[in-house]
Amino acid sequence: MAKEELECSFCGKQKADTNLLIAGLDAHICDRCIVQAHGIVAEESKHTGQELTTEVMLKKPQEIKAFLDTYIIGQEQTKKVMSVAVYNHYKRLLQPDTEDDIEIQKSNIIMVGQTGTGKTLIAKTIAKMLNVPLAIVDATVLTEAGYVGEDVESMLTRLLQAADYNQEKAERGIVFIDEIDKIARKSDNPSITRDVSGEGVQQALLKLLEGTVVNVPPKGGRKHPDQKFIEVNTEHILFIAGGAFDGIDRHISKRLNMAAIGYKSSQEGEKIDGQNLLQYITPKDLKDFGLIPEIIGRLPVLTYMNPLDAGTLKAILTEPKNAIVKQYKKLFEMDNIALSFEDEALDFIVQKAVEYKLGARGLRSLCEEILTDAMFTLPGSDETSLVVDKSYAKKHLSRTRLKQLKAVS
Ligand code: ADP
Repeated sequence: MAKEELECSFCGKQKADTNLLIAGLDAHICDRCIVQAHGIVAEESKHTGQELTTEVMLKKPQEIKAFLDTYIIGQEQTKKVMSVAVYNHYKRLLQPDTEDDIEIQKSNIIMVGQTGTGKTLIAKTIAKMLNVPLAIVDATVLTEAGYVGEDVESMLTRLLQAADYNQEKAERGIVFIDEIDKIARKSDNPSITRDVSGEGVQQALLKLLEGTVVNVPPKGGRKHPDQKFIEVNTEHILFIAGGAFDGIDRHISKRLNMAAIGYKSSQEGEKIDGQNLLQYITPKDLKDFGLIPEIIGRLPVLTYMNPLDAGTLKAILTEPKNAIVKQYKKLFEMDNIALSFEDEALDFIVQKAVEYKLGARGLRSLCEEILTDAMFTLPGSDETSLVVDKSYAKKHLSRTRLKQLKAVS
C-alpha cells in the first residue's frame, strides 16, 4: 500500500483526516477509534468489576470468618461478630427498594483492644476479601472544622484516593478510624469544658457515620473556594472504629461491682475473668469513658480484642497465610537457600517479645535482627540452607538491641 493511501482499519478514515494513525501488524488505528475503544474497555471492566464485587459481597458469614481465619490468629468472638456485621452491611447495601418501609440500619463497628492485637489487620483483611477500597485514618489528627488539623471529611479524601478517585467504588468502601478513644470527652461534665479536640470531632463525625452527602476536596487539605469537590454519599460506607481505651477496665469493673484483679463471682453467679475484663464491655462503658451517646448509637456493633499470649504470638509467627516466618523463607528461597527455624528458636523469639513487651509488631523486628547477618552474607555464597536454632537466635539478639527495640515499639 502506498503511503498516502493509509487509512484507519476501523473507521476507514484517510490518514490525512486523522490526528494520528498508529500502525499494527496488518492494520492501522486512528486516534478517535482509540478513544472510543478505550471507552468500551472502561465500560466493560466497570460491569465485570461490579459483578465480581456483588459475588464476593454475598459470601456467607461463615465463609467470611473462614477467610479471616487464614490471616488472623485467635480473636474468635470478634471474627464472628465482624463476619455477621459485614454480611449484614453488604446485604443492606444490595437490598432492592421494597415497599414494606423496613430500612435496615447501618452496622458500623467499634473494636476495643490494646494496640498490636490485630484491629487494623482485621479491617485490612475484610477490605481485601471484599475487594473494596480501605482508608485507614487516625482520629488523633482530626479536629472540628476551623481548627488546626484535619476536618473529618479528610477521611473521605483518603477513601477516594484508595479508590483511584472512583466515586462509586469509594461509596462502597471501608473507613477504619484508629484511636477513636483519643477523641473521648476529657471531662465527665459536658457543660463545664467545651472540649474542642474531643467532643467537637465526635459531633462532626455523627453525620458521616450515619450517612450523608459530603463535598469532598479530592486533593485533601482545607476546603478552598476554588477547589472542585467530589460529592460522596457515606450511606453505604462501612465505618470500623478501633481504640485501646486505656483504663476502660476500671469502668467495667466498677460496673461489674468487683475488683479489677483476680476472679470473683458476679451477682448472677457467673465466673468473671478479671484478667480480661474487655470481654464484658458494654456501650455504657464507652459512654463512661467519654464517647457521646450519639456516636455510640452510630457504632452499634461493639466488640473486643483479647491480649496476645505467648501461644498466640507463636502462632502469629508461623500460621497466618503471610506469616512472618513464611515471608523470610520465601526471601531466602529466592536465593536458593532453605531457611528453617527450630521450635526452640521460635519459643525464644516469643519469649523475648513477651519479656520486652514488644507485642506482635515486635516479632518482625526480632526476626529481622536475627536474620540480617545471614541475609547479608548468604546470597551469592555456596550455602544452600540455614537452620535457626536457639543459640543462633540468641547470638544475634543482643540485649542492647532488645532495649532499643523496646524503646521504639
Ligand atoms: P492494632 O491495629 O490493634 O494496633 P495491628 O492490626 O496493626 O494492631 O497489628 C500489628 C501487627 O501484628 C499486624 O500487622 C500483624 O502482623 C500482627 N498481628 C496482631 N494481631 C494478630 C493476630 N491476631 N493474628 C495475626 N497477626 C496479628
